[in-house]
Amino acid sequence: MPIYEYECRGCGRRFEQLVRTGDTPACPSCSGQDLQRLLSHTAVSTEHTRQNSFNKARARAKLVQRDKDVAQAEYERKHHEEGH
Ligand SMILES: [Zn+2]
Repeated sequence: MPIYEYECRGCGRRFEQLVRTGDTPACPSCSGQDLQRLLSHTAVSTEHTRQNSFNKARARAKLVQRDKDVAQAEYERKHHEEGH
């Protein structure tokens, strides 16, 4: 899901918004949907966001990995027991 930066034409508020396909973002200040997408700004501002989500993704991957390890250990234990 892409994150876009918008500027509200109604009140001038700038905000970043995760936009799903088909979603129409609304201004968090005035709920207006007359928004200007700030394309040029996005490349700069998403660097931080990307780093952020990268860290989150890595943390999530670690969690998943731990779950897998647990599942694998569980599987091996059961397999071992059934072998007897
Ligand atoms: Zn607004």
